[in-house]
Amino acid sequence: MSSERSFDSALSLAHLGARQDRVVMQVVQETGEIVETPLTEADLALTWNKSVCPYCGVGCGVLVGSKAGRVLKVRGDPNHPANYGLLCGKGATLPQMVHTPDRLTYPMMRVSRNADVQRASWDSALERIATHWRRLIETHGPDSVAFYLSGQLLTEDYYVVNKLAKGFLGTNNVDSNSRLCMASAVSGYVTSLGADAPPGCYADIELADCFFLIGTNTAACHPVTFERIRRRKLRAPSRVKVIVADPRATRTADIADVYLPLRPGTDVALLNAMLHVIVREGLLDQRFIDQHTNGWPQMQAVIERHTPEQIAPMCGLEPSAIREAAHLFGVTKAAMSFWSMGMNQSSHGTAKNNSLINLHLATGQIGRPGAGPFSLTGQPNAMGGRETGGLAHLLPGHRVVADEGHRRAIESLWGIPHGRIASKPGLTAVELFQALADGRVKSVWILCTNPMVSLPHLSVARRGLERAELVIVNDIYHPTETTQVADVILPAAQWSERDGTLTNSERCISYVEQAIAPPGDALPDWRIICRFAQAMGFCEAFSFRSVEEIYEEYTSCTSGRDLDITGVTYARLKRAPIQWPCPTAHHRSTMRRYIDGAFAHPDGRARFLAHEYQPPAEPPDEAFPLILTTGRVRDQWHTMTRTGKIPVLMRREPEPFIELHPDDAAQSGVIEDEIVRICSRRGSAEAKARLTTAIAPGTCFMPFHWGGLWGQAVVNRATIEAFDPISKQPELKFCAVRLEKQ
Ligand code: SF4
Repeated sequence: MSSERSFDSALSLAHLGARQDRVVMQVVQETGEIVETPLTEADLALTWNKSVCPYCGVGCGVLVGSKAGRVLKVRGDPNHPANYGLLCGKGATLPQMVHTPDRLTYPMMRVSRNADVQRASWDSALERIATHWRRLIETHGPDSVAFYLSGQLLTEDYYVVNKLAKGFLGTNNVDSNSRLCMASAVSGYVTSLGADAPPGCYADIELADCFFLIGTNTAACHPVTFERIRRRKLRAPSRVKVIVADPRATRTADIADVYLPLRPGTDVALLNAMLHVIVREGLLDQRFIDQHTNGWPQMQAVIERHTPEQIAPMCGLEPSAIREAAHLFGVTKAAMSFWSMGMNQSSHGTAKNNSLINLHLATGQIGRPGAGPFSLTGQPNAMGGRETGGLAHLLPGHRVVADEGHRRAIESLWGIPHGRIASKPGLTAVELFQALADGRVKSVWILCTNPMVSLPHLSVARRGLERAELVIVNDIYHPTETTQVADVILPAAQWSERDGTLTNSERCISYVEQAIAPPGDALPDWRIICRFAQAMGFCEAFSFRSVEEIYEEYTSCTSGRDLDITGVTYARLKRAPIQWPCPTAHHRSTMRRYIDGAFAHPDGRARFLAHEYQPPAEPPDEAFPLILTTGRVRDQWHTMTRTGKIPVLMRREPEPFIELHPDDAAQSGVIEDEIVRICSRRGSAEAKARLTTAIAPGTCFMPFHWGGLWGQAVVNRATIEAFDPISKQPELKFCAVRLEKQ
């Protein structure tokens, strides 16, 4: 166990949150109330290791208490800048997902599709994959194989998969479930600001005077960040203003001064109309526009047309509400905006992100304390994955495969011939499963994710995995909806069972310690991939003996890049998390980017990018008159493989539901709690009806967590695979459905 260590008792008390002779755990409740649990004598007898919660992108620091090889307790790390000791209900119950009866402890294979899985050795499982992939690559070329990764993998896992696929197997078919989550925020940042990164940090929350939350149910999906926003608001309720724009009046809207129940998909129109008001009220920061941006003249004609009166009916809003929101944003000293899937999961997600960033550029609300656009990452290491090149168009160090200079730089670092890395981007998430379904890709290796629940239009994904010659899945549990259709299932070490690094939503890299040994034959994902690479004959390039060796090679790829972390060593990270860039050993950390107004485009200027509202891919019509939007509930995480095993979380939201406005329910004769079916052109899902005026008439909502193992409430059987042309992120937030009674 390379990194295991206990704190001595003095350090232990400090790290565990000693306050006035008592040590507590703080868990934020749904109501905002903080429940504190005192530290007991038994807790002090545990070994405590530093880690990070493996759920959402807030990236809360946690302390893991273990004894005799079992994780028994978890506490919020009072010294971690993401949470300062706070946890939400999911983080507070982490130990309950570690030691479960369905943990995978040895490799398993099935000899044919209809056969049961049987125990296998690591050598036989990896040799089977290597033999099959060698044949596929020789016969059909390297793009006949693919990897599908996850924002829950650690940075070192991501790095070795990318190195193997793009540098040695010769395919760029490496994509991630981050494509479903963050891709539009990335393309928004890159096109508007020149680089993929939120400019600010969590500490800005305590300095902001205005929060604009659009397309995010922060209270449910990022509870600890929401708690910081809520506290800031409560401390100065008349000075600090909150604007919430969301088709559903969730608990996030409870703290809003202005709540905008905008019609799904109309974000660009709303944002343009807000900019129109800012212009008309003389709230522009003209000096900032002149000195630090390009493209403002081209914005004018678009903005001119977007009067609140013209736009409000399309958005389902009152013009006065748009004016008020724009005014609050424009007059404030420091405004932060937060968003997540509501903006990103759209066939126009990049345009939505650009339009929001336009607001910040026009008002100079960027690159200074308390101000800036801040995308909330859905997964703990979505950012770290991108840093290593973990999407189909990327290479390590925020490079792209389409750039010859970038390819050459990485080829040199990897010691492979120039020209080895393909210049064509690989297949992105939706494209990859379509290619499996039509036979272009013949084998896929899925790591740490459950696409048979999370992808849109699931029947295509199912067809893809059924048609594939060989499906390999690394997971920690079996069965999941995806391991059920795998030919080879490999047991991975999970959270607390291995070490490594990850990067949360604020560019903050944390080192996670190993607390206990993995069960049985389970191995960290990076070891599995390195053993496979060696079975494929790439022994020297994958002879890493530790995650630290991988990390050191990876950081060399960032030298001179916008995210340069060559000054961030494991030794430093073991002391404290660090925000990138951090290019030297003496550089402390970078809380905020662009403080000098120099953006990452070659000319140093940010860009205004004007967009007109475009309708979603599948507007409602006579046959399918309702808009279906999907999302999350507070106490479940992704596809419930972990949180679905935790009784206290299940009790809070025990079953799936379809949220309907009472008018829509009445039209179909549906009553509360009745089982109903939503049907789209692609498929259907069933659940109990939940009637509420918190959603507008004409729109229904269903959480996406529940998969086929739980019954028929699988909403992604109905969703659409249309995606944004730039980010390739699918439109999981909008498709047309009709309601049917059972
Ligand atoms: S789920 Fe998110 S907010 Fe909750 S403890 Fe984990 S990282 Fe923090």
